[in-house]
Amino acid sequence: MTSYNGKCHCGQTEWTVKLDKDKANHVLCHCDTCKILSGSAYTLNQIVPKDALSFSKGGDSLKHYTYQGESGKDVNCYYCPNCTSHVYHHQTVMGPDTVIARTALLPQAVKDFQPSAEIFGRAKMSWEKEVAQTFDTLPPS
Ligand SMILES: [Zn+2]
Ligand SMILES: [Zn+2]
Repeated sequence: MTSYNGKCHCGQTEWTVKLDKDKANHVLCHCDTCKILSGSAYTLNQIVPKDALSFSKGGDSLKHYTYQGESGKDVNCYYCPNCTSHVYHHQTVMGPDTVIARTALLPQAVKDFQPSAEIFGRAKMSWEKEVAQTFDTLPPS
């Protein structure tokens, strides 16, 4: 396990995420929700156990926004109340002990891990190049 440091844009929130290099399952998501929430072409995500994420600063002041995911269950997006950097999200369909870290906020992790899959490829923009195996929606489970 390696600990990767994250920091929001304003510096009010700092955290670490423990990631296992061998089991890196780093996913690039093209869905429309990610586009709107991030203001970008896609997001970079990794599913982690909740206890792999720990805050050294600002964890208690994060705000969250809730929307209904594809599953019909709530998705809670946790963000810095000052600069709006999106730190992690929790899909309630995955149970209470699993969260999704936004790896673009972990500068060393995005250097160490290439994406292993692209999801919601159906919403990908025509000019984006493929960087990993692409699924129309989610990979078959
Ligand atoms: Zn911030
Ligand atoms: Zn998405």
